[in-house]
Amino acid sequence: MNRIAIVGAGLGGLTLARVLHVNGIDAVVHEREASRGARGQGGMLDIHSGQRALREAGLIEQFYAIARGEGQDMRLLEPDGTLLLQEDTPDDAPLDRPEVDRADLRDLLLDSIPEDMVRWGHAFRSADNGLLRFADGSSAPYDLLVGADGAQSRVRALLTDARPAHTGHNVVEIGIPDIDRTHPDLAEMVGRGTYWVLGGGISLAAQRNGDGRVRIGVSFYNTAEDWFATSGIPFDDPPAARARLIDLLPGWDPRFTALIEACDDMVVPRSITTLPLGLTWPSTPDVTLLGDAAHLMPPVGEGANMALLDGALLGLALAARPDDFPAAVKEYEREMFERTSAAARMSADMQELLRSPDAARKMFAFFRPG
Ligand SMILES: Cc1cc2nc3c(=O)[nH]c(=O)nc-3n(C[C@H](O)[C@H](O)[C@H](O)COP(=O)(O)OP(=O)(O)OC[C@H]3O[C@@H](n4cnc5c(N)ncnc54)[C@H](O)[C@@H]3O)c2cc1C
Repeated sequence: MNRIAIVGAGLGGLTLARVLHVNGIDAVVHEREASRGARGQGGMLDIHSGQRALREAGLIEQFYAIARGEGQDMRLLEPDGTLLLQEDTPDDAPLDRPEVDRADLRDLLLDSIPEDMVRWGHAFRSADNGLLRFADGSSAPYDLLVGADGAQSRVRALLTDARPAHTGHNVVEIGIPDIDRTHPDLAEMVGRGTYWVLGGGISLAAQRNGDGRVRIGVSFYNTAEDWFATSGIPFDDPPAARARLIDLLPGWDPRFTALIEACDDMVVPRSITTLPLGLTWPSTPDVTLLGDAAHLMPPVGEGANMALLDGALLGLALAARPDDFPAAVKEYEREMFERTSAAARMSADMQELLRSPDAARKMFAFFRPG
């Protein structure tokens, strides 16, 4: 029997597990987290091309039930307060790019496979001679190992020396809890979807989540890898960190800095890294990668979609060739390299646009060409 070991119960690994399960193929998912709720999954994802993966997985109707069409609303502004674009989604608009809570989507995938398909608390350390080794000293045999272990993948090293590199982009994540009750005026301003202020190599992106929290990312696109150490933001003193963030936005309209003032004490620094564009590796019969492990790209709305598609398409390739997994892996990788390098190129172009001093005008032209 061919034993498939998937490392990582993220969106990609779980989609693969689901597609294998519906095709009657056994697999085990090894996840380092202790349980499904061990870590907050955070944030919203806009799911567009990834809907095909959910359809292949037989989950599209369940997905529509948790998707938020109104999350497609967008307001685009310049730092001086000029509103460039406001898009309000009609109630009957098609769900082309609905927003979904990442935790809801992960729960949907987890609930769609047998409980014992995921082994929690299994942090992958190494693999050799068909044996996986975990941090707790345990081991498990495999015939095919799929690294679905995200941006900092450990499985990746079995196939390539490539490592994620910093892009110049550092984000500070903050948020306003229960905004409708605590700050109805700001709730009205942000609206139902994404509220985006761009300019001077900085962006403020506020996004309403399903639980009433507005998550805000303040991004600095032209900064060094060690910028958090030199930025003067005291992360251990949230009120002072918020004040410093406001100082870093000189000349920004007071309505935008009011958003920062209204945030609670969660202040999280996140340094953005990516893998080299167009990364490939020689196909190996018993190891492959999917999702961020294979093609970590700038976070402009493609990564989760690509991870879902990778999982579904690898699952279908394996189901089509149950007696020849190496050929299935090769076929999957050929398509995956082509599809994801195009998405990574587009994401890099978008990241370049965000770095520019007049990013809002350029983004407006992108949404309203001609
Ligand atoms: C701020 C931000 C916003 C984003 N917004 C969007 C968006 O709107 N739309 C979009 O398409 N994409 C978005 N992305 C990208 C998206 O989140 C990722 O591309 C996607 O989650 C990748 O899925 P994955 O399954 O490859 O990895 P992950 O979802 O990261 O899952 C990896 C899993 O592997 C586990 N793991 C890690 N190491 C080990 C180990 N050693 N042993 C066992 N398990 C391990 C982890 O615990 C985790 O459960 C965003 C990313 C960021 C940072």
